[in-house]
Amino acid sequence: MRIEYDIKLGFKDVMIRPKRSTLKSRSQVNLEREFKFLNSQIEWSGIPIMAANMDTVGTFEMAEALFRHNLFTAIHKHYSIQEWNDFLLNAPSGLENYIAISTGTGKQDSEKLAAIFNSHPQLKFICIDVANGYSEHFVNFVKRTRDLYPNKVIIAGNVVTGEMVEELLLSGADLVKVGIGPGSVCTTRVKTGVGYPQLSAIIECADAAHGLGGQIISDGGCAIPGDVAKAFGAGADFVMLGGMFAGHDESGGELIELNGISYKKFYGMSSQTAMDKHVGGVADYRASEGKTVKVPYKGKVNTTLQDILGGLRSTCTYVGAQRLKELTKRTTFIRVAEQENRVYD
Ligand code: 5GP
Repeated sequence: MRIEYDIKLGFKDVMIRPKRSTLKSRSQVNLEREFKFLNSQIEWSGIPIMAANMDTVGTFEMAEALFRHNLFTAIHKHYSIQEWNDFLLNAPSGLENYIAISTGTGKQDSEKLAAIFNSHPQLKFICIDVANGYSEHFVNFVKRTRDLYPNKVIIAGNVVTGEMVEELLLSGADLVKVGIGPGSVCTTRVKTGVGYPQLSAIIECADAAHGLGGQIISDGGCAIPGDVAKAFGAGADFVMLGGMFAGHDESGGELIELNGISYKKFYGMSSQTAMDKHVGGVADYRASEGKTVKVPYKGKVNTTLQDILGGLRSTCTYVGAQRLKELTKRTTFIRVAEQENRVYD
């Protein structure tokens, strides 16, 4: 047994220090970024915020709404091939640059992936998603997927340490998804004791990825727009959101009314609810690692989006970053023992 004594930080442990700035208005801030991905060499531009590949968030409806603002959606893996066909038949042109097909590492997953690409070769992004990105089986799956699809963008995760980011990039991933345990409906830390505070995970993993010319996606733990800004400030190239995009018209999950208030059901992809729905229950050798909650119904996702993007533009003006690309360089975090004032919560 070993203990590492340097403290690892989460979003709640820091704030961003304001800096002198020549920017006059938030409207001067450009949130678009351009990337050329390491292995596929595909170029992409847009606002690097993604809806998570959860069946309550990564929906076709969400993809259409976010695409209008050049944001990305990792489509969840539970749509049938027929549903993909129907959706893509009427999808607006250009959308293929802002959606990923999600897949697990099973045989059926790869067959479905192949079938979707076969009918829709214009799609470019694959999101290979497993809870534990440290397994050899997963690394081999990433390698095989790269061999099969040299010209597709591969997102792979999740991991939280630099050496594993490097291994995945060297195995063919273009973008590595970072985050174990920070998610709003995740109980991994409760059930297993495993995890890594998200801000430190981003800082360390971004450093490793950028050293090789790859990118990272910070996945999980953003509860408010300020967290999204901190994730970018820490070095995330993309930020993936689950809970913040839940509860909208475009989200999945049933609408519930309780004492005259509307809610939408939201649950982790390893929760009992998700496993009952997709795999006929929790297998007897495992525990669920996700919660089922109800989130207040929030209407159209556009309103939330404006809140997030407006917040992010404001962060950039506070530190003098005219483009999102400059935010990390302009960020100094301060360790804090307080966050927002909650007198009127
Ligand atoms: P959020 O933005 O809600 O804080 O986090 C979203 C992320 O939580 C997802 O992208 C995914 O990585 C993670 N996640 C989703 N469902 C589950 C689950 O059931 N268990 C765990 N451990 N993580 C989950």
